[in-house]
Amino acid sequence: MASTADPLDLALGPKTANALARALDLHTVGDLLRHYPRRYVERGELTPIAGLTPGEHVTVLAEVRTCTSRAMQRRKGTIQQVVISDGSRTLDLTFFNQRGLEKRLPPGRRALFAGQVSVYNRKLQLLHPDFALIDGDTADVADFARPLIPVYPATRDVSSWTLQRCVRQVFDVLDEPEDPLPAALRGAHRLPVLMEALRGMHRPADHAEARAARGRLKWDEALAVQLTLARRRRDTLQRPAPRCPHRPGGLADAFDARLPFTLTAGQRAVGELLGTELADEHPMNRLLQGEVGSGKTVVALRAMLQAVDAGRQAALLAPTEVLAVQHARSLRALLGDLGRAGELGAAEQATRVTLLTGSLATRARKEALLDAASGAAGIVVGTHALIQDRVSFAELGMVVVDEQHRFGVEQRDALRDRGPGGTSPHLLVMTATPIPRTVAMTVFGDLEVSSLRELPRGRTPICTSVVPAGEKPAWLDRAWRRITEEVASGRQAYVVCPRIGDDDRSEDGEEHRPPLAVLDVAPQLAEGPLRGLRLGVLHGRLPAEEKDAVMRAFTAGELDVLVATTVVEVGVDVPNATVMTIMDADRFGISQLHQLRGRVGRGVHRGLCLLVTDAPPGTSSRERLDAVARTTDGFELARVDLEQRREGDVLGAAQSGRRSGLKLLSLLEDGELISLARQEAQRLVAADPELTGHPALARLLAEMLDEERAHYLEKA
Ligand code: ADP
Ligand code: MG
Repeated sequence: MASTADPLDLALGPKTANALARALDLHTVGDLLRHYPRRYVERGELTPIAGLTPGEHVTVLAEVRTCTSRAMQRRKGTIQQVVISDGSRTLDLTFFNQRGLEKRLPPGRRALFAGQVSVYNRKLQLLHPDFALIDGDTADVADFARPLIPVYPATRDVSSWTLQRCVRQVFDVLDEPEDPLPAALRGAHRLPVLMEALRGMHRPADHAEARAARGRLKWDEALAVQLTLARRRRDTLQRPAPRCPHRPGGLADAFDARLPFTLTAGQRAVGELLGTELADEHPMNRLLQGEVGSGKTVVALRAMLQAVDAGRQAALLAPTEVLAVQHARSLRALLGDLGRAGELGAAEQATRVTLLTGSLATRARKEALLDAASGAAGIVVGTHALIQDRVSFAELGMVVVDEQHRFGVEQRDALRDRGPGGTSPHLLVMTATPIPRTVAMTVFGDLEVSSLRELPRGRTPICTSVVPAGEKPAWLDRAWRRITEEVASGRQAYVVCPRIGDDDRSEDGEEHRPPLAVLDVAPQLAEGPLRGLRLGVLHGRLPAEEKDAVMRAFTAGELDVLVATTVVEVGVDVPNATVMTIMDADRFGISQLHQLRGRVGRGVHRGLCLLVTDAPPGTSSRERLDAVARTTDGFELARVDLEQRREGDVLGAAQSGRRSGLKLLSLLEDGELISLARQEAQRLVAADPELTGHPALARLLAEMLDEERAHYLEKA
């Protein structure tokens, strides 16, 4: 008898076990049992051929129409042409040297065919597919007598029906595995036991049984994720933090007293919450989401000042140097003489904002390091490297991270003991990319979430249009004229391209032209439609000083148009910029486009964003652009984005082919389940943090989300 932990060769023999390991990375009985069918075919039902796309590896159930054999023309050997049908459409199969194929595949015979879809003579075909007969006297496999035939994710070397046979063999010797889900939980949610669910998944009698099994197995995944997160939350909340209580009459109050605008209700509410959490002896661990321009920076600065008032320091981390520089500049501007400690004309209780980046000259860097280590700098601004490089702080009370995407769980962990006396600094992560509820509960599930939903008053929403350059070239001319007009009335513009140019050409697909590049587009504009305007170029390959100089010139209005890559994506704040033209906009994702356009219309003038594309109407690329043009509601866009992406891209992102324990859970469909699992996880961890009373559950966690696999949590 076998258990789920046993290696597969015990049950299947070394040859098959090796094939499964090589082809599908399946090693144990448990691995195989959690390799679920993608779908089921009913014996009486043929697979629609219309849905097949070239390149796909498919398994189809179809009926043979014709099968012919002839000699090859230029070489020795025979070629067999088989036409199969789903009842309406046909698909060509080509075999070589398969003598006797006509006997095995006579007209009317039904079989499963597996292979990669290709195109030949403008028709879809399967070249030398694998097949298994499911009826007739030659039907080799008893498995196919079942009403539902599972279709497994398969490869060239291991077919769906091989997997089906392996699963049957494993079930023949399997001891009932211990169920990781506590009986009470199963009872409350009416879930079948594990063994029953596994059988129902692999060998269901009908669709209802398969559905119930699937629902139960999703629970395993959702609970594993939520338990991991609940334990992480608990772990953080138990750590000591540097307390930063509000000091009446301090710097924070002085700053508030001279704010040139009134805070929105949302800013006030979040501010109060942060104030309370900062005063606590356990660390704040919060994600603040809000549209670009919703005023997150001001909220963060007020919190940082409370930390400074408590005699601590705050660090503000940005994903790039350009942004760090920009942040330092805008914090200094907001603070005025309250941020000029040690300088002439500083206010009485002023603090100092110090910029610390890798590209500072040696002397400046030394000074900045000293400021951080001595505590002279109340606020230190830098890139994420500030934390990784272990820059030393006198009294680090709080860390603010702008844009969470590149700041994952690992980086959060690196903060752990960076506060005074090994405490954990308070953490505030800010993002302008709206996060759908299910993503917030999973990918960022170890953080508490707050949102700023209203924009400060007086902001006019940006207007976005799609410019179909291919169909309507005149529209593109008009776009350039629009930039010239805006510049004539004193405004500025961005032109964004997907590539830098020169030597960064990506190798994907020869039939597509490479995406437009900054280094090609800038000179074309300078000599063509934007002749006479002052153009600047900004991209990631420029040396840091040059980037800074270009940004400064643009901010100062010494440049009219900035031709740039996505380095302008986050945080860049030039209120005078009113137009953004995005070239090859279809090369960008929804949230990236939304981020990008947030760079214009930040001042009193209305912003305009033009999405230039060659993508034909009706394609999914074009639909994406239309969605961005249609709404500025970030939450709606996040939903569209989630719908368009495959689950794996979100949950399993950047797993780079790694197998993850999560196979069934869908962020789009399983919101309810995820939320229930979250409650159950909270309860379980509160009562038994180490899960000592639930050893099978602890094992499930380890299997599904061992340290390496837990990476999916941070890289969505
Ligand atoms: P975010 O960081 O969310 O993109 P910022 O904090 O940079 O937004 O704010 C965008 C602009 O709006 C800044 O120039 C800021 O000074 C200004 N601002 C912030 N809050 C308010 C408010 N309540 N009323 C008016 N202007 C505001
Ligand atoms: Mg900002």
